[in-house]
Order: sequence, then structure tokens, then C-alpha cells
Amino acid sequence: MSYWYIAHADELLIDLDNYMRPTRSGCPWGEEFFRRRIRAAILDDKLQVREVWLVRSASEKHYQAIVRLNQSLDVIVRLTWQLHLGSDLYRGRADLMRAALKYPAPSLLIMPNKIDNFYRPPDYKCHCTEKHDTAKQHELGSRACHIWRKVRGMSPWELFGKMEKTDERFVALPLGCVPMELVMEVRR
Ligand SMILES: [Zn+2]
Repeated sequence: MSYWYIAHADELLIDLDNYMRPTRSGCPWGEEFFRRRIRAAILDDKLQVREVWLVRSASEKHYQAIVRLNQSLDVIVRLTWQLHLGSDLYRGRADLMRAALKYPAPSLLIMPNKIDNFYRPPDYKCHCTEKHDTAKQHELGSRACHIWRKVRGMSPWELFGKMEKTDERFVALPLGCVPMELVMEVRR
């Protein structure tokens, strides 16, 4: 099963990749960034935090933090806080773009298990046991996971354009007005 938690107006979902990675001081990254930044937000009255949940997602080094607030925030404000508190940058910018494009659930968390003792039930559940890979789901068309279709239903390149994944060599760009043929050049 997969359990879907959609970020509500009083919640921040923070995707903390490699939370225990040491920083230069040796302090775990999650400690140095996530905790320090949320502490500043609380002490300076920028966020009214009710509780913080830390959960481990499918992969070992991956943690998710859920911040339950005592206030409802505008979606762009919430997504900005998520990025500030250390959420994964790719996910963060995709969430922001989905919010700007008025997707109904721009930020969500999919867990392989229900979160133990959590203060609310998940918004949806589905029978999938594998990760909901956007490209794979998109290829499945009408056979894709019905929850994925309901709250995502997008092609992998819908937000930012289709990207090539092959290696390419450096193209030096001049200062000033950069010729578009150089911007567009693919050198292998
Ligand atoms: Zn599913």
C-alpha cells in the first residue's frame, strides 16, 4: 500500500534528503539547517509551530519532516518555508510551479506505511507498492494508479520541458548578449 498525505494549509512537508550527512563542523546537516532554521522562525514569531514530526520514508537516509502549524498559510508562503527549512530543491521548485499553475495538490508526501500515531489519517491510499515514478505512471495512461491520476496526472516534462540526460561537453558562453545558437548547442 501507499499512503498519500497532501499538505494542508496548516502543514509544511519537508523532504530532508540525507538528514544525517555531516556538515563541516561534523554536526548532522538536518540538525544544522532544519532545526536551526525552524528555531529562528519560532523565536522570531514567523511561524506558529504546534508540533514537528520526523518520519523515515522508503529509502534509508531519507527523512521527511512534517510541521503542524497553529495557523493556515497561503500556499506560496508554505512552499517557500518548505524550501527554507531544507526540503529537496527539485521537489521544492516543482511544488512551487504546480502551485503557480493551480494544481490542486502541489505538495504531497507518499509513504509506504501509515505514519504511526499521526494526528490525522492520510488523504488517500492506493495499492501500489513501488514508488510512483512520474514517467512510468504517465506511460501507463488510463492504467496508471488512480490516486496518482487524481492528484498528479502529469507528464514528467510538463513543468519544465523535456530534458536530455546524455552527457555533454562545455560550451563557453561570452559575456553580454549570448548568441542563441550557443545556448541551444549540444556538444558531445
Ligand atoms: Zn498508487
